[in-house]
Amino acid sequence: VDPSRASILHADLDSFYASVEQRDDPSLRGRPVSVGGGLVLACSYEAKACGVYTPMAFRKAKQLCPDLVDVPARFDVYMEASKAVFAIFHDTTPLVEGISVDEAFLDVSGLRRIAGTPTEIAVRLRQRVRDEVGLPISVGVARTKHLAKVASAASKPDGLLVVEPEDEDRFLLPLPVHKLWGVGPKTTAKLNQRGIFTVGDAARLGEDSLVAMLGLAAGHKVHALSGHRDPRRIEVGRRRGSIGSQSAIGWRPKTDDDIDRTLVAIVDRVARRMRKAKRLGRTVTLRLRFEDWDRITRAHTMAAHTSHTETILDVARNLLRSTLPDIADRGCTLVGISVGHLCDDPPSQLVLPFTRHDTEALDDALDDLKERFGSKAVTRAVLLRHDGGFSGSVPMLPD
Ligand SMILES: [Mg+2]
Repeated sequence: VDPSRASILHADLDSFYASVEQRDDPSLRGRPVSVGGGLVLACSYEAKACGVYTPMAFRKAKQLCPDLVDVPARFDVYMEASKAVFAIFHDTTPLVEGISVDEAFLDVSGLRRIAGTPTEIAVRLRQRVRDEVGLPISVGVARTKHLAKVASAASKPDGLLVVEPEDEDRFLLPLPVHKLWGVGPKTTAKLNQRGIFTVGDAARLGEDSLVAMLGLAAGHKVHALSGHRDPRRIEVGRRRGSIGSQSAIGWRPKTDDDIDRTLVAIVDRVARRMRKAKRLGRTVTLRLRFEDWDRITRAHTMAAHTSHTETILDVARNLLRSTLPDIADRGCTLVGISVGHLCDDPPSQLVLPFTRHDTEALDDALDDLKERFGSKAVTRAVLLRHDGGFSGSVPMLPD
């Protein structure tokens, strides 16, 4: 293992959803394609070349790109492709850290003798994803996660970029400062206002000036990343900071009851996934999207960690109730719930009677039935009134 050499891969599928559509329908290849219907969830490179980005209202995208072909999303197909690609990642190295459905870090530093240099491994990985899953994937190779991530982005589409330690400055310093991972539009604007446009400009500035300009956290980060200091290692089996789900509820008019039923179904799903993963959470976040694509987010942090359906549902309903005055007549089209501030569920806690809500036993029983007979086998009473008006859940979008 030689951490002084470039041996971290960042692998990232190109325009994931749109590439799957172009793979499955040859008539879409070489054409500007968007996925999603009213909202562009993903678009092909041909569409990006016309200035289409995500998310963007389809109407606006069509103005920019009159030849744009829109196809409906097929999330089950995307998830199948994601699983196949991750199977190749895990086949490449045991050290895989998934970042989203279509990207991961892979540490290949220990594989030189059995599998070759990081560059050889990256070339093979890209070829396998192309041959076995039919999708283009870009890979960045570097000494740190940050540089690998920036390198894969710079190599797109369908590229491979290896940044050896001696090339780090030459690669990173000329890039615009927003290319630093995690530097958003606000920080970028502050830096630009002061005449700092490239990573090199920021690197020359020194830590104190950056902190004075951007505040402690952002200042430290920009200073560290522009100087290639990124000590983060690959975290195997890294667990997500939150577990969530969302449901599109269509464009028809809906009542508060409709939204509540959607909420119950989502909370049920999220809490079940938490219990299965043996995770407890404290912060419940409600997300709503409206016909005009505007969104609102409300969050509440509970006093204690839980994975208990009724407790999470109570919080979610209170959050929803608090938004009702603001959302009347706005046409809610999507409801999402996520639970964050996760921790492991210590098994000892389960046997302490006073920490158990009396309906927690019900959760266990329902989980068990759903496990054995499928999630449609048992339904909470409120869902029985469900009129079938909303579509199934959609996974959170990849970056
Ligand atoms: Mg991607």
